[in-house]
Amino acid sequence: MADATDRDDRTPHILVVPYPAQGHISPMLQFSKRLRKRGVKISLVTTKFIARTSHSIPSSFPVLTISDGHDDGGIDSAESIQIYLDSLRRFGSESLRELLQQLSSSASPADCVIYDGFNAWAQDVANEFKVIKAVFFTQSCAVADIYYHVYKGLIKLPLPDTEIEIPGLPPMKPPEFPSFVYQLGSYPAYYDVIVNQYANVHKADLIFWNTFYELEREVLECLKRIWPAIRPVGPSIPSGFLDGRIENDREYGLSFFNAEGDVSLKWLDDRRKGSVVFVSFGSLGEVPVEQMEETADCLKNSKWAFLWVVRTSEAAKLPTGFVAETAEKGLVVSWCRQLEVLAHEAIGCFVTHCGWNSTLEAVSLGVPMVAVPGWTDQNTNAKFISDVWKVGLKASAHKDGLVKRGALLQCIEEVMGGDRGDEIRKNAAVWKALARKAFEDGGSFDEVVDEFLAKFVSRF
Ligand code: UDP
Repeated sequence: MADATDRDDRTPHILVVPYPAQGHISPMLQFSKRLRKRGVKISLVTTKFIARTSHSIPSSFPVLTISDGHDDGGIDSAESIQIYLDSLRRFGSESLRELLQQLSSSASPADCVIYDGFNAWAQDVANEFKVIKAVFFTQSCAVADIYYHVYKGLIKLPLPDTEIEIPGLPPMKPPEFPSFVYQLGSYPAYYDVIVNQYANVHKADLIFWNTFYELEREVLECLKRIWPAIRPVGPSIPSGFLDGRIENDREYGLSFFNAEGDVSLKWLDDRRKGSVVFVSFGSLGEVPVEQMEETADCLKNSKWAFLWVVRTSEAAKLPTGFVAETAEKGLVVSWCRQLEVLAHEAIGCFVTHCGWNSTLEAVSLGVPMVAVPGWTDQNTNAKFISDVWKVGLKASAHKDGLVKRGALLQCIEEVMGGDRGDEIRKNAAVWKALARKAFEDGGSFDEVVDEFLAKFVSRF
């Protein structure tokens, strides 16, 4: 690991403090990479456990560590989510404070802390030092709008059984709300952290958001009235993926899982254009065993080839014999380089759990989706995929909550071929072009960075 104190002391030094999860660290690292091109020094601040166990933190980033109180095992070693989040707040605050103190007497003191919205406590620590404070949000503006209304008590809970209207959003049914709000009480610890992250947002000097203006224009305009410092800086994807030069941009971020020796891309090379269904339910979620069975049966009976990411911890849920029986048309891997897979021309659609990163990656790369949301913000992302951006279909769940094999198969067939598929592909191409424009225009991103860097001038 590089030493944070061995560089030019007049280079602005920014600490980036993501919440310790793949879907938070990756977009913040991408953003950091773009910022760094403008001549600032960036140190990634993550937990001791993640620094020790992650597979690919880009070697070019100095990594500084804090504690979450679970240095040996991370969140999985905590007795409950509540215990982990309390511990992260407590030990994270203490160790971030110590780190800022240490740095203040070093050759490279911190000038700025960019903290994850989930780590609202980091702002309180940063307030004790003379540093610029910027928050970075890794979920959509749409879900933030909902949570903010919940935080302010502007929507009634539990949600009424009708369509609900919130400024900036289309009318939405209760199951299209984030699960923590719709299924009130399901994860009280996450609910508290997420809803309360809006308590101190207004005190941040800048509010960065992993979205792009055209994608969430209406809701962004609404949120801008609440927080004028809001700045969309997404999509947080390496430029190579948006301008078709992937080979120049392979080192794209941290991975909690080992994708070395990933056979997916080679396997895709042998497939026809648009002929493969890519299936992934993300880096965290535990898919019910019955949902794995429904998915497996659907893929077995579909006429399309498939690439399915099943994390090692989920593999026992696959039906016995599934991998061998489907070996001719399918490949199951424990992890893949998802951006490269999505950018591969063999991919025809993405069956996704609708995590915000996966959603934004597929939108930005023009890949049609079949939405199978599980929990947290995924229901809301699925609503936007199917009804707002119209870049996919949402597979409807049965009353037992499962997406049955027939319903999934029908969506896959419609998205892969047929008239609706054509329409969806056209829309996906439009959004891909808009994502690229948001990115390459430089325009907005460069302006945001100019504004941000101007805040450092008075410090030197
Ligand atoms: N991902 C990956 N390889 C995989 C599966 C996922 O690189 O095999 C990445 C994916 O590209 C995305 C992140 O993991 O950037 C998952 O984040 P997301 O917000 O979609 O879902 P979460 O894992 O947080 O539920």
